[in-house]
Amino acid sequence: MPAPKYFLTSYGCQMNKLDSELVESKLRQRGYEAAAEEGAADVVLLNTCSVRQHAEDRVWSKLGKLRVRKRTEPGLVVGVLGCMAQEHKRYLLSRMPHVDLVVGPSAFGDIDTTVEAARSRNQEIAAEREPARTKHQVAGAGVVAVDQGVSGDTIRRDVRVRPHRSQAFVSVMRGCNMPCTYCIVPTTRGEEVSRPIADLVEESQRLCDDGVTEITLLGQTVNAYGRDLTGQNATLANLLRALHAIPSLRRLAFITSHPNFLGPDLVTAMAELPKVARYLHLPAQSGSNAVLKAMRRGYTVERYLARIEQLRQQAPDVELHSDFIVGYPGETAADFDATVQFVRTVGFAQSYVFKYSPRPGTLAADLPDDVPEAEKERRNAVLLAVQSELTLAKNQALVGQTVEVLVEGESKVAGRLSGRTAHHRLVHFAATDQDLIGQYMPVRVTEALAHSCVGELLAHDAAQEGRHDPAEALS
Ligand code: SF4
Repeated sequence: MPAPKYFLTSYGCQMNKLDSELVESKLRQRGYEAAAEEGAADVVLLNTCSVRQHAEDRVWSKLGKLRVRKRTEPGLVVGVLGCMAQEHKRYLLSRMPHVDLVVGPSAFGDIDTTVEAARSRNQEIAAEREPARTKHQVAGAGVVAVDQGVSGDTIRRDVRVRPHRSQAFVSVMRGCNMPCTYCIVPTTRGEEVSRPIADLVEESQRLCDDGVTEITLLGQTVNAYGRDLTGQNATLANLLRALHAIPSLRRLAFITSHPNFLGPDLVTAMAELPKVARYLHLPAQSGSNAVLKAMRRGYTVERYLARIEQLRQQAPDVELHSDFIVGYPGETAADFDATVQFVRTVGFAQSYVFKYSPRPGTLAADLPDDVPEAEKERRNAVLLAVQSELTLAKNQALVGQTVEVLVEGESKVAGRLSGRTAHHRLVHFAATDQDLIGQYMPVRVTEALAHSCVGELLAHDAAQEGRHDPAEALS
């Protein structure tokens, strides 16, 4: 009997992608195999995101298509996982009978059992209907709802399930205790729960034993790590030091940080530990104190600048990345101008810019969404243009230099591979040798683009012969 097949699509943040890896681990341990395409799957799972309306819209649209498919394939199992499962549980259960599973992000521990139960039930239903397939929806297919249970972090991770052989993400905590008015995460993911340092070292060691050389630690407020682990001396700085000791680990990054928790111990760790990535994702969200206050971010522009000043003094090579929301309720033209000025003052290497959209269930959703859509579009475009200008200038400064990249895979341009520097800069270079993927290679930058660089691979022949030491080639 062929193994049952699943197809899992992840929406939203990196945390969701890691959750998806954990779900895949459980399903594979249960004997399931990944389907090459959705149409070949017996089980279709959507690991969803509620942070922005756009991400939700894509899931609703996908569910509409799956409803049609299920009319002729009653044995198909359709599952909604993650934040939308938590947030829209009632609607999904009452209005979408073609959905078999509704599983919140804190309940992935039993996902294989839940999927298997739904598959058995749907197979029985399909067998009964086989002689005369109905065009009617499979009403009452038996929805399984799970919104409490074992956290995904309690799953012993199958380290082989990961997107890159040399890179892995490790979730160090779940949830968030911050009160940001626009954000649904504290509702969907709950309060902060950190994993003990010993667990994280053990998991990271297993990943490195399996060939991983770059680990990115994940948390909604990753630099608040350990606040709930009283008496254990668990801080992000101490965690970085513990992981830094793994000999075969070469790069160690962490996302996403909150400005309020950028303390002296973390700054010192970043300055002292050479394996720690040379970028810090520190979302500011706005450069206006009035907007920051309205968002309840808990800091001012001045405080943000003071925090990064200490970082720049101790670790001047660390580049800053940020997120911004434009068009927050009440954001005036002057507030927006302050944000533009702030972005220029800090000189971020990279920023993600989002147009505000109200999320039901958040405090901000009760405020008038009073910045017209056209104005949000304009502010979005202006801020992106400013950031592109800054990024391009930083890329131009690299032209002529040799950088070390961890080769990640094929570039979109045929005949090229791409890799990232320790600063997270994307560099493309002419090469087709797939064996380079996962290696650290020296590349001389020859051209700066708005969001990436182009370069030429150095010592390619030596690398092919296995004699190349990338560190030696860097000047
Ligand atoms: S810090 Fe604020 S924006 Fe980030 S996850 Fe927590 S509540 Fe959301």
